[in-house]
Amino acid sequence: MIVDIKKMISKKEEELVKRLAVLKQKNKIPKIVFIVANEDEASKSYIRSKIKICDKLGIKQEEIYFTHTCSEEEVVECIKKLNQDKAVTGILVQLPIYHHLNVNTIVNSIKPSKDVDGFHTFNVGSLYSGCQNIIPCTPKGIMSILDELGIELSGKYVVVIGRSNIVGKPIAQLLLQKDSTVTICHSKTRNLKEYTKEADILIVAAGISNLVTKDMIKKDSVIIDVGINRVKDKIVGDVATIEVAKKAKYVTPVPGGVGPMTIISLIENLVEMVENSK
Ligand code: NAD
Repeated sequence: MIVDIKKMISKKEEELVKRLAVLKQKNKIPKIVFIVANEDEASKSYIRSKIKICDKLGIKQEEIYFTHTCSEEEVVECIKKLNQDKAVTGILVQLPIYHHLNVNTIVNSIKPSKDVDGFHTFNVGSLYSGCQNIIPCTPKGIMSILDELGIELSGKYVVVIGRSNIVGKPIAQLLLQKDSTVTICHSKTRNLKEYTKEADILIVAAGISNLVTKDMIKKDSVIIDVGINRVKDKIVGDVATIEVAKKAKYVTPVPGGVGPMTIISLIENLVEMVENSK
């Protein structure tokens, strides 16, 4: 069946409203700053979705845009100022950024405690060493979906398609920490189907529409579709959802699946940061 993510989102939003009310009583209002250093249309749409939920939940936000003529120093300087600003809880650099900017330099200039996306090398290291610090939003969202579905992870065989730093690698780590047996497949993996057919849980984050079809999955497995692809003006995932839904126990939809849960996870990270602040 196709998972109803809307229900999960409503529940999570209600929980966030309560947590934010407690913080408000203590005069603690989260603030997130979005740094946008690209002119990518998809990025603009992601930022709009993030701003929408901030407005809905009464979270302060600010957007700082850089044009293509900006220098790396300018962006780093801006981030350093935000690091010092006590009113700013979290800083998010919307990826991708202009090619002339070094992504590691920019992301690592964020103070780790304000790195709401969890991409700073310190936070990546913390995650890999098992310290649950700030978890990157998409993997956190996937874990929330699996949790809401009541999926037992211990001993399960999980195949992750994609080895990026923002999805594939961190989700594999989180699943390992839950005692799953994990295989990461990627563009050079031979005979992808041999792995996917065995998976109790299949997480697909390749960015290729129709990559996973019904014949490639195990009966009654759980399929999490992370992909976002624009095909003939429509947004689709990496999974042939309709046919896969007939064989899988659960498949997440695109749009309206991992994407909105990722945004909820971002707000959860932000709220957690304020809750943990002195
Ligand atoms: P990426 O381009 O960094 O990585 C893609 C990965 O897929 C690579 O590791 C590559 O080796 C692998 N791959 C490519 N072709 C393959 C093939 N034929 N077989 C097996 N593996 C293959 O992408 P990313 O940033 O991890 O994102 C992946 C997808 O998820 C994209 O569509 C992206 O838009 C989407 N995404 C969605 C969210 C969300 O919130 N829903 C968040 C991040 C990324």
